[in-house]
Amino acid sequence: MEQGKRVFCFLSLIFLIFALVLGGCSSIREAESPTVWQQESHNFETDNQSVEKQQTENQQTVSQVRENQETKNPEVESREAERQDTESQEAVNQEAVNQESKNQGRESKETGNQRIPILYYHSIAYEEGNELRIPPEEFEGQMQLLRRNGYESITLNDLYEHFYQGKEIPDKPIVITFDDGYEDNYLNAFPIAQKYGYKGTVFVVTDWIDGKGYLKREQLLEMSEAGWQIESHTRTHPYLTSLSPEMLEEELLVSKQVLEALLQEPVTAFAYPYGVYDYATVEACRGAGYLIGVTTERGWAGPENPFLLQRVYCYAQMGQDEFLRRIENPNY
Ligand SMILES: [Zn+2]
Repeated sequence: MEQGKRVFCFLSLIFLIFALVLGGCSSIREAESPTVWQQESHNFETDNQSVEKQQTENQQTVSQVRENQETKNPEVESREAERQDTESQEAVNQEAVNQESKNQGRESKETGNQRIPILYYHSIAYEEGNELRIPPEEFEGQMQLLRRNGYESITLNDLYEHFYQGKEIPDKPIVITFDDGYEDNYLNAFPIAQKYGYKGTVFVVTDWIDGKGYLKREQLLEMSEAGWQIESHTRTHPYLTSLSPEMLEEELLVSKQVLEALLQEPVTAFAYPYGVYDYATVEACRGAGYLIGVTTERGWAGPENPFLLQRVYCYAQMGQDEFLRRIENPNY
């Protein structure tokens, strides 16, 4: 009997302990749950914050891209920038063409009508994977080809005088132009072209003069004295169609004045950065005193409009056959 009581008490004690342990666990669990909830809710907030952060980052990326586009490193002016053949751009340019055609007659002295290929290059220095930078040997191969095939270089002044004042030009004329004013135009292109008896035109961005990798004042003077034309490609290389009328005028006038002061020569030709222009751009060019505007549109230049002269794009590894095709066929 005594034994039975002891066993009963022992079992009761075991049960009590068990019950207490279980109860304790559940109260711990309950005490934990707010923490878990808080944690989850905190996680939720964190998720929200990270979404917000992500959005901010995205916005920063977008503005960074915009900033990069705006302050685009001219050295790596991308293919996309130079191949402004997007539909919208064509539409903008086309509008200018339509408007311009209404103005024909102003320059319609049109005494010469021989179509002329205006080649356009950028850098004459090798860089892997960059078609805007043509290796000097490839450039020399093209100059050799021109010489072998009887081409004579003429300047943009000659071209203008041929179209509008009836100036006689050689049977196989070619105009050689370079955009952006890279220093390798002086270091590489200039001596090679001179070797084959050719002269070129360099469109410089005046704020980049004396900058690293760009033409220096004394180099520009030396080229100018050798009969090369140094012309304007704006002051800062902006997208002209997105500027206010005042900014547009400044880009056109300041670059012209800077070059004229340096070279002591009239600056009369202009190249539209990225090939982008519209009717207002063309009118502003005319107003600033330019006589000629060159585009990046494919084809040979004709006398229809001196502000919409087409050019022949030259790129790295184009090959001599393609080069020849472009300079022998006005409708290549
Ligand atoms: Zn350019």
